[in-house]
Amino acid sequence: MQRNLSALADGVFDLLIIGGGIFGGGIARDAALRGLRVALVEQHDFASGTSSRSSKLIHGGFRYLEQRAFALVAESTRERRILQDIAPHRVRPLPFLLPVYRGDPRPLWLMRLGMTLYDVLALYRNPAAHRKFSPARTLATEPGLDPNNLRGAIHFYDCQEDDARFCIDNLLHAAALGAVCANYCEVTGFSALDGKINSATVTDHLGAGTFDIRARAFINAAGPWVERVAGLLPPAEPGDLPRLSPTKGVHILLPRITQSHGIFFQGRHDGRMLFILPWNDCTMVGTTDTDFKGDPADVRADTLDVEYLLAEVRSLFPNCGLTASDVITTFAGIRPLLRSDTSAPSARSREHSILRRGENLLSIAGGKYTTYRLIAEQVVDAAYGILGSRPAPCRTAKTSLPDFRPATAGERIAENPEVFASDVTQAVGEEMASSVEDVMRRRTGLALSRSGGPAVAEHVARIMTTAAPQDAGRIGASLRAYCEEWDRNRPGN
Ligand SMILES: Cc1cc2nc3c(=O)[nH]c(=O)nc-3n(C[C@H](O)[C@H](O)[C@H](O)COP(=O)(O)OP(=O)(O)OC[C@H]3O[C@@H](n4cnc5c(N)ncnc54)[C@H](O)[C@@H]3O)c2cc1C
Repeated sequence: MQRNLSALADGVFDLLIIGGGIFGGGIARDAALRGLRVALVEQHDFASGTSSRSSKLIHGGFRYLEQRAFALVAESTRERRILQDIAPHRVRPLPFLLPVYRGDPRPLWLMRLGMTLYDVLALYRNPAAHRKFSPARTLATEPGLDPNNLRGAIHFYDCQEDDARFCIDNLLHAAALGAVCANYCEVTGFSALDGKINSATVTDHLGAGTFDIRARAFINAAGPWVERVAGLLPPAEPGDLPRLSPTKGVHILLPRITQSHGIFFQGRHDGRMLFILPWNDCTMVGTTDTDFKGDPADVRADTLDVEYLLAEVRSLFPNCGLTASDVITTFAGIRPLLRSDTSAPSARSREHSILRRGENLLSIAGGKYTTYRLIAEQVVDAAYGILGSRPAPCRTAKTSLPDFRPATAGERIAENPEVFASDVTQAVGEEMASSVEDVMRRRTGLALSRSGGPAVAEHVARIMTTAAPQDAGRIGASLRAYCEEWDRNRPGN
């Protein structure tokens, strides 16, 4: 995948996709597989928005049963099965324990009932049916759990993935099929006549200035920025602008405290469902869910978020002895949820909607990572309506996503995740990584591990500079920025 801005400026595309998160990437791959001429631009790095800041689960959404979102659960479990089939190297089953204690808001019998419904709605496509574990078996499986008042646990499966990497793989496949994609290119305006957009104006943040991209249909897949991008096309008619009620979600990374299972549990402070997940050589804990009104580009964990999550971990794993100084790093993201009347952030719908503005702008609002493939299919079908032709059949449910990782060779720079110098070289040469953060956070996953600190980042910067000596200045500056951000994302800084 090469950054070819003249191909963007010179072509006339069927679709211009705005946003290189998982929805944009999924739409680009779907449309390219159907033979459409596709362009995609991303204002920052690919997957730098919500699509690298999720809990990294491809899940049926057990907790949505409480909101009676049965259709969403059925849809999600169906999509989870498809993603396991087309990308088994990325979407892996993860065993979970759901421990239940005396006094929890949802008793064990209710959780079992819910899990039975979860299996049924999945039409038994869950990686394995759930089982009930006795307290003794629960503690034998995860010995660090609090034994006091433990009633037992439910053992079940969902799937885990690397959200940023999976997104980049979708983009790489789209590009291999002919899509022209570029990161660090922001859409700043549209040129339109009578509600029909002819071109989008794009600013290249790596220095090539401003240019226009012409297309017949425009897809606004800007996630938390979807309202802002839709608003670039005046005049707005009430009702045809997407409306969000975004919420912030925080995760913290701790030293490993579990064996091999994810733990899904009822928070002791407010009864919300929380996750403790194995992640690289760490434990990932999440997530908070609070209203967010600021700039989506400036979201981070604050002290209260970290203390809330740590308190939950300590009450479930009383002997872990973890404090804020043990936190390896934190990350935060914005859920671009549809606006609803529900005031409680955790109860807001994870459904999506596709809105048309003017003649030829489609915007996607809401949704979740798990259902990206289906949402992309619906968006491309809708885009055919704008193009005025019958939709070619969607092929994404049956077409494998290639494994783009290079054959491992040469120097190994980290063990868990296992990363080689060749991964960094490929990121620079084939995957449009231009900063240390692009490589650490979104190509290799190093940023969310014990290898995420300055020592490995400096090593990565040296390999990048060898691969692209002409960019030495930019890479050096990006190393400094990465190290500052690493410090900011640790509590107490
Ligand atoms: C804390 C948290 C946990 C979550 N956990 C899960 C989970 O476990 N499983 C699950 O299924 N879902 C989960 N989700 C939801 C999931 O992450 C999102 O639904 C999904 O990532 C949204 O993808 P997107 O492509 O719409 O948005 P994004 O990934 O944000 O992509 C939009 C992109 O558009 C770009 N953009 C914006 N404006 C412009 C412009 N003017 N020009 C060019 N580009 C622009 C942005 O830079 C951004 O990269 C979670 C979300 C959060 C916040």
